Amino acid sequence: MIPSKFDYHAPKTLKKALSLIGEHGDNAKVLAGGHSLIPLMKLRFAAPDVVIDLGQVGGLSGVRVSKDGTIHIGAMATHHTVESARGLKSKCQLLSETASVIGDAQVRNRGTIGGSLVHADPAADWPAAILALNAQLEISSADGSRTVSAGDFFMDLLTTDIKPGELLTEITIAVPPANSGGAYEKMHQSASGFAIAGVAAQVTLDSSGNCAAAGIGVTGVASVPYRAAAVEAALVGGPFTEDAIAAAADKAVDGVDPDDLQGDLHASGEYRVHLAKLFAARAIARAANLAG
Ligand SMILES: Cc1cc2nc3c(=O)[nH]c(=O)nc-3n(C[C@H](O)[C@H](O)[C@H](O)COP(=O)(O)OP(=O)(O)OC[C@H]3O[C@@H](n4cnc5c(N)ncnc54)[C@H](O)[C@@H]3O)c2cc1C
Repeated sequence: MIPSKFDYHAPKTLKKALSLIGEHGDNAKVLAGGHSLIPLMKLRFAAPDVVIDLGQVGGLSGVRVSKDGTIHIGAMATHHTVESARGLKSKCQLLSETASVIGDAQVRNRGTIGGSLVHADPAADWPAAILALNAQLEISSADGSRTVSAGDFFMDLLTTDIKPGELLTEITIAVPPANSGGAYEKMHQSASGFAIAGVAAQVTLDSSGNCAAAGIGVTGVASVPYRAAAVEAALVGGPFTEDAIAAAADKAVDGVDPDDLQGDLHASGEYRVHLAKLFAARAIARAANLAG
């Protein structure tokens, strides 16, 4: 239960953090809230030579909406910071709602959105919302920065597009247009709060009340969170009737490799598929209601 020896750095600027990460590459681990990293180090599943604590780096933990209608969330923003960010709920309900159902108050005060996304636990809540909102993730290194869409970020179990020497610095999301609504539905694992299955829906209505756009993110069901493209395609252009929503939601696991729909000690694969369809229908109905 004691981590192996490591050097500890607490840089105060992003430039210094990026230079340290560039210098140590694969031998370094970045520390955000430590909720996932510290247990892994104590169990020696992770044994970095160098730990770079981002806690004192300025400018990474804010939430703001810029004049061009973009929401900027620093990677070190805690779940609570997002949940309670002034004015955010009225601009993007899905972000505030997702933050509010992560773990408990202690977890939300310490865990960060960046740590959650980079750790990429298959049962984490943020990926569902980030996928539904088609967020853009800014990844920085000593050589510059690049932007990756949420849909391209999650690559495999606990694996993202972040490479050694890189940091996730910011998550940006376009403020949804008028007549939009978002909702997140999940069944939580009772000890931790992680999702047994969770579905986030973000929809926009056209002037007739039909679906102009839809984003559906699914977590907890497969080894990698995903965008349910078949559900989105079934919704766009149609009405939000009970039948139309049920038919679209029934496609919640379309395209997922059946071998990837495995159960574990918390729930069978079959039950997770059932929940994914059920929560897709509930989240879409609630999002459409909020949009209207
Ligand atoms: C008791 C408990 C209950 C929880 N319940 C839930 C829940 O209900 N739902 C849920 O979604 N989550 C839940 N979590 C997860 C938690 O909320 C954290 O978001 C998650 O564990 C990541 O932790 P962290 O932010 O402290 O990051 P850390 O543990 O510090 O880091 C996690 C990983 O990401 C890397 N990393 C961190 N930040 C960056 C960055 N900016 N750039 C590059 N790499 C980075 C680290 O090197 C490490 O590999 C729970 C955690 C605990 C302990």
